[in-house]
Amino acid sequence: MMCAATAGARGRRVLLADHADEPGKKILISGGGRCNFTNLHTAADRYLSSNPHFAKSALGRYTPQDFLTLVERHGIAWHEKTLGQLFCDGSARQVVDMLVDECAKAGVTTMLGHAATAIEHRDGCFAVAIGGREYTAPALVLATGGPSIPKLGATGFAYDVARSFGLSIVHPRPALVPFTLGADEALFRSLSGVSAEVEVHWQKVRFREAAVVVAPEGEGALPAPSAPSAMPVPASPSSPSWAPAPPTAAAPPAPEPVSPDACRGRRVYIQIHGPAQQAQAASMRQPWRRLGAVVPPVEDVLASARAAGRAPPAGYARPTILWHDAGSQACARLMAQRLPSPVGGAWQLRALPARLVPTPGTLEVWLPRPDLASAAAGERAGQ
Ligand SMILES: Cc1cc2nc3c(=O)[nH]c(=O)nc-3n(C[C@H](O)[C@H](O)[C@H](O)COP(=O)(O)OP(=O)(O)OC[C@H]3O[C@@H](n4cnc5c(N)ncnc54)[C@H](O)[C@@H]3O)c2cc1C
Repeated sequence: MMCAATAGARGRRVLLADHADEPGKKILISGGGRCNFTNLHTAADRYLSSNPHFAKSALGRYTPQDFLTLVERHGIAWHEKTLGQLFCDGSARQVVDMLVDECAKAGVTTMLGHAATAIEHRDGCFAVAIGGREYTAPALVLATGGPSIPKLGATGFAYDVARSFGLSIVHPRPALVPFTLGADEALFRSLSGVSAEVEVHWQKVRFREAAVVVAPEGEGALPAPSAPSAMPVPASPSSPSWAPAPPTAAAPPAPEPVSPDACRGRRVYIQIHGPAQQAQAASMRQPWRRLGAVVPPVEDVLASARAAGRAPPAGYARPTILWHDAGSQACARLMAQRLPSPVGGAWQLRALPARLVPTPGTLEVWLPRPDLASAAAGERAGQ
């Protein structure tokens, strides 16, 4: 995504294809869900590599401060944990949203849910088969990541392509693994559960590590890439529910005042029925962001349904805010108090219908379906 946004910002026409159903899934689990997005003490000599010059040139062109500037431009709150590690105060999703926004700003076309299956180079161009169609381009970037956690979309595709182009591959090995001690290290057994700041030495390499946890084998605190079930994988919030027309739970009255921070870090999906509602929806993004919410690009549910070959959602006759979990309910109330509905009339506040799977921290905002809204207005006018 970073590469696509940068190429787009340089005026290139960019297609970003990913076979996952949402972008940045691995980022979502990074840093225990808060994304350790950079380190203030990053330096080329901290990278162990057979080609140390690579880190020098990469870091010479793009520094931790550059990334921090980008993070701050997107209003993402952060904190330093230990030894220069910077984490989001909120969630790793903010970093994904930032990258999605940067791609959108740079005019990148994103295609999700389609795998790249074959690549050839002919007539000075790369020809890539994606989702049964062929795309050609003079430049191609393969960024399929490391092979860990296939459940999140990781494949060895780029390695296969590299091999098919005659490139030699350094066999990938897991890097984030426990440091296993021999059975005779009885001293460490008694330290089970203790964490400490340590300095690690091995041959000429020496580095400080913020926290090493001593744990019995099989219960290590480090996430081993081969054990996805141990990861704090957040539920996928990428697919806002298709809201049904019949009412479900009515919003309870607000017994206590709403905190001005109720929306901080929550994710608000805005859904519209057709391009005519685009401007109204766009006018809501900034005010919600000012309340601290993350607001992904507006979704036209008619276009999405058409693209997916399914029936459009039933929608609502009135402007509606759905909260997915009890924690997001206060945010719905804050929004309704602070932000008038862009189509007039009061917001209707509801819990996500029980038959849909909630994603904690998520809200959906539905602009009224135009035909339902005019039918309701007609009824009110006694027609
Ligand atoms: C548990 C864990 C915690 C981590 N924590 C941190 C952290 O705190 N800070 C940090 O900096 N890094 C962290 N990392 C590492 C970080 O997540 C990765 O370095 C980063 O995601 C790599 O980005 P990428 O774009 O190269 O690859 P990825 O994020 O893996 O993206 C590759 C994409 O390629 C897609 N893909 C694969 N094959 C195909 C195909 N054939 N067709 C179409 N699409 C395909 C995949 O669906 C995927 O979306 C962590 C990693 C793990 C596993």
